[in-house]
Amino acid sequence: MEITHIEHIGIAVSNLSEAIKFYEKMMGLKCYSIEEVPDQKVKTAFFMVGTTKIELLESTEPDGPIRNFISKKGEGIHHIAFAVNKIENVLQELESKEVKLIDKTPRKGAEGLDIAFINPKSSYGVLIEVCEDKKLL
Ligand code: ZN
Repeated sequence: MEITHIEHIGIAVSNLSEAIKFYEKMMGLKCYSIEEVPDQKVKTAFFMVGTTKIELLESTEPDGPIRNFISKKGEGIHHIAFAVNKIENVLQELESKEVKLIDKTPRKGAEGLDIAFINPKSSYGVLIEVCEDKKLL
């Protein structure tokens, strides 16, 4: 498998609009998209940083995965997303290497990407997302 770049870094926040203000006013970045992903019970905000993005994630539900993450660990880095080619093949390859996957087949994430998560138990405590932008193909 080939990872082409870090697509984005996901950051769990309690208050999206406050966090957007920080990244815009203090860090000088521009939020170019706010999107709700009902499947993951999150509202996201994206910032471009070179070829990598920052994805802020706020839970939209009291039982959402981001709310659970924040109650256990507090706000902070939630996941790292690697851009890959042929995500289905990547997932097959990881499974054949006995890497534990949260998603064995890709699902739709923010920005229309095909995404899948690797179980952090397999990846030294880091939640890794692999993603592919099929709109680019
Ligand atoms: Zn992500």
